[in-house]
Amino acid sequence: MEAAKIVGIKYCGGCNPRIDRSRVAEEIGACLPEGFQLVQGKGPVVWDVGILICGCAVACADSCELKSLARGWIRVCGPVVDHEEVVEGRIARAIAEKLSKIALDECL
Ligand code: SF4
Repeated sequence: MEAAKIVGIKYCGGCNPRIDRSRVAEEIGACLPEGFQLVQGKGPVVWDVGILICGCAVACADSCELKSLARGWIRVCGPVVDHEEVVEGRIARAIAEKLSKIALDECL
């Protein structure tokens, strides 16, 4: 059986968030597709996928240093996931769909 893909989450400082970042993270954990494992904090391995949860479009946490933590990133900037506007209650589901697509693409 193939090892689970590691998913890590990073947050912005949250000075003026337009979304509830912790709730989004909880919802991501609750609907993570099969084959992915959510890890807490920076570990010794590069994450397969990083999820950057920024509270607004300024996306201050999106830095070069951050990019090196994961092979690929999904960016949440307020109610926008990878440049696509999403209702706040659907952000986690949109991310789960992206993760499923990554898994599918890697099987092809
Ligand atoms: S991304 Fe927005 S909410 Fe987060 S720290 Fe920057 S300005 Fe504040």
